[in-house]
Amino acid sequence: MIKLHDKTFKPYLGEEQILAAVKKMAAEIAKDYKDKTPIFVGVLNGAFMFVSDFLKVYQHPCEVSFVRLSSYHGLTSTGIVETLLDVPENIDGRSVVILEDVIDTGRTLKQLVHLFSQTNVKEFKIASLFYKSEAYSGEYAIDYVGLEIPNDFIVGYGLDYKELGRNLREVYQLNQSNMINLVLFGKPGAGKGTQAGFLKEKYNLKHISTGDVFRYNMKNGTELGKLAKSYIDQGDLVPDEVTIDMLKDEVEKNPDAAGFIFDGFPRTAAQAEALDNFLESKDMQINATIALEADDDILVARLLERGKESGRSDDQDEDKIRNRFDEYNLKTAPLKSFYEKQGKFHTVNGIGEIDEITTRLGKVIDSL
Ligand code: AMP
Repeated sequence: MIKLHDKTFKPYLGEEQILAAVKKMAAEIAKDYKDKTPIFVGVLNGAFMFVSDFLKVYQHPCEVSFVRLSSYHGLTSTGIVETLLDVPENIDGRSVVILEDVIDTGRTLKQLVHLFSQTNVKEFKIASLFYKSEAYSGEYAIDYVGLEIPNDFIVGYGLDYKELGRNLREVYQLNQSNMINLVLFGKPGAGKGTQAGFLKEKYNLKHISTGDVFRYNMKNGTELGKLAKSYIDQGDLVPDEVTIDMLKDEVEKNPDAAGFIFDGFPRTAAQAEALDNFLESKDMQINATIALEADDDILVARLLERGKESGRSDDQDEDKIRNRFDEYNLKTAPLKSFYEKQGKFHTVNGIGEIDEITTRLGKVIDSL
């Protein structure tokens, strides 16, 4: 295990494995280009080590050059791609093979394709040492791939975490085992959102409220928002397929989170199963499910009060509120035994002053 800045990383690919992939690529490319004197264009900074090892095993006439784009800041792709070092000169009529260290979402690749489409090169091909096929959403088919890898954050062999780790000879993967992932459980109005707001500050966690994500989408009139509205207005649950996919997207958007607070998710057995499977695939897990308990009549009064201020359609009348409680009793309450079986279920009295309740929750989290 190694530490870079605030994160730990565990060994993932050894030097031999990487060099074998580089050799395999060189052989494949040589088959197509050995008589064409291609220009290999490395994408800085990440590809420098790959380009170097690649050229050592590509023993045919060739030239080498570099471009530099920027899209990563920390662990998340910002989506902004700038050109910092432009395409080489005198590439008219030439065969270009772009050498990338890793392709994930495909945003940088799109920019590269755009850059080279504007030139008069004879042809250009893309070769990437690592390829995260699960994350890739681009249209361009990648011509040569060294190794397909899962959608996890990696460093080493030219790749960095906030500029550190580029000089490692092996590739390491982000270690997720010191994450804290919590599910806040409880009926509408139990105070999950309010408490999540305090806990996320205290424990440096990312708060995901599925209700908030739906409301954001409704406000912005997205397809997802339009679809969810009819259910939410009635106090019914939005279908599982929709909610589960949305939740996964929210988690994927935050690869650098120190942990998550899931608020309002899972609400059905299918969602709980899907969450466990999804987290396991990312080497993550739920550490605790904490239920905030309060009496129905108190909750109805709280929600009607909140509805006056927020204007939320589902907080306006008692029938819709009672329907949400019915949905909870029928579909969500059974999850208690799901988490009890895993030894992860905790209850906290949700009646009292807000800071008292935060303290009660903190005690549970600190005991984990
Ligand atoms: P909330 O803000 O958590 O009370 O959620 C408001 C509404 O959004 C709920 O009454 C549901 O209609 C919908 N919703 C939120 N989370 C989920 C979920 N996990 N599954 C299905 N529907 C949900």
